[in-house]
Amino acid sequence: MIGVLDLQGGVVEHLGHLHALGVPARRVRHPQELDGLAGLILPGGESTCLGKLLHQTGLDTAIPAAHARGLRLWGTCAGAILLAKAVEGEKPHLALLDITVHRNAYGSQLDSFTATAEVPPEISPAPVPLVFIRAPVITRTGPGVRVLLAVGDRIAAAADDTGGMLATVFHPELSPSLAFHGWFARLCGLTVPSPEALRGDDAAWSRESWTKLAARPGR
Ligand code: GLN
Repeated sequence: MIGVLDLQGGVVEHLGHLHALGVPARRVRHPQELDGLAGLILPGGESTCLGKLLHQTGLDTAIPAAHARGLRLWGTCAGAILLAKAVEGEKPHLALLDITVHRNAYGSQLDSFTATAEVPPEISPAPVPLVFIRAPVITRTGPGVRVLLAVGDRIAAAADDTGGMLATVFHPELSPSLAFHGWFARLCGLTVPSPEALRGDDAAWSRESWTKLAARPGR
C-alpha cells in the first residue's frame, strides 16, 4: 500500500496514477494513517503551507519516524522541497534527503512549461514527459544521492537509493506517463508492470501540450 499525503495540493492525480498501475493507495492526513504503508508520496502544492500543516498534524515528526522504520518517500515539486535537507534562504521542513533546493527557480506560474527527458532505463526505456509548475531547482546533491535527470544543466530529479527517497521537481502525476509511479512502487517492493510494458508515446503528448501552452494568449 502506498499513501499520498493529503493536506494540500495535487493528491487526486497521484491516486489516479497509482490506481492505473493497480497499486493499492490511500490518503494520509494523520500520523496513524502511516501504519502499514510501504511508501508515501508528498505531492506538489505550496511548501510553506504544507510545512505548517505537517506541523499542526504531527506528521512532521511521524513521517521521519516512519521513514526510519523503512517507509519510502517520494516528493514531487513542493513535496521535494519538504524532503530537502536545505532550502536556499529558508529553514528546511522534514530535512531527510541530502539535497539543497532553490524555490521558484523558473519564475512564476506563467513560466510553467513541459519538457521531455531521458531517464535511467530502470525508470523508462523511452524519454518521459515532464511538467514544471513553479518548480524548484536542485542546486546540490550530497554523497549517496544520485542525479536521475537534468534539464539543461538544472537537476530535476534525484534519489537516495539506499535511503529509499526520491525527489522530482516536476509533476509526473500531470502527464500520462506512469514511469515514475511504477518505479516508486517497485522501490516500495510492490509488483507493477515493467518499464517496457508501461512505455507509451509520452514524447508526443509533451510536444502537443507544450504547443497548447505556448499558444495561450498573453505569452
Ligand atoms: N512553488 C511551490 C513551492 O515553493 C511549489 C510548486 C509546486 O508544487 N508545483 O512550494
